[in-house]
Amino acid sequence: MKTTFQKVELTGRWSGKCPVCGKQAYRVKKFFQTISPFNKLNGFVKTEGQIKVELVGQIHEWAKSNPGHAKCE
Ligand SMILES: [Zn+2]
Repeated sequence: MKTTFQKVELTGRWSGKCPVCGKQAYRVKKFFQTISPFNKLNGFVKTEGQIKVELVGQIHEWAKSNPGHAKCE
């Protein structure tokens, strides 16, 4: 039996100077979580709204870290 859970996905975008090669870089990265019994916050299954708040936070952290080019990582 296969159960599929609803996926909550946000796309993070970053552009800036690559910290490795110093050239202009643009990155897109997808962040997602699923709404499932395994994904809980304080004992309750996370709602779509809670997940989005977390994803936005993760995207901010990721963008602040200056990811640079994928090939330069
Ligand atoms: Zn680079």
